[in-house]
Amino acid sequence: MPEVCPKCGLPKELCVCDVLDKETTRRIKISTEKKKFRKYMVVVEGLAGDELEKTAKELKRILACGGTYKNGVIELQGGNKDLVKKMLVSLGYNEESIDVI
Ligand SMILES: [Zn+2]
Repeated sequence: MPEVCPKCGLPKELCVCDVLDKETTRRIKISTEKKKFRKYMVVVEGLAGDELEKTAKELKRILACGGTYKNGVIELQGGNKDLVKKMLVSLGYNEESIDVI
């Protein structure tokens, strides 16, 4: 038995739910937050569930920085907003839905 997507019922290799999720995703907001000791942190808001976890791990890996994710918010220690936006676009997110603040 091939593995079947629980959402659309299609075999995993035909399923495009992941892609659709990203295309219909609500707006993503990227901002920076100033932390103690003049350190800045990039904050990504607007992702949820599996997407939040996957994207956080991918960003940390690509940017080689530390970070956390919880309650729909990814916090990255290091990196910069424009770079994070480029990374999100290369991961398949629609550039139009990303706001850099
Ligand atoms: Zn599916």
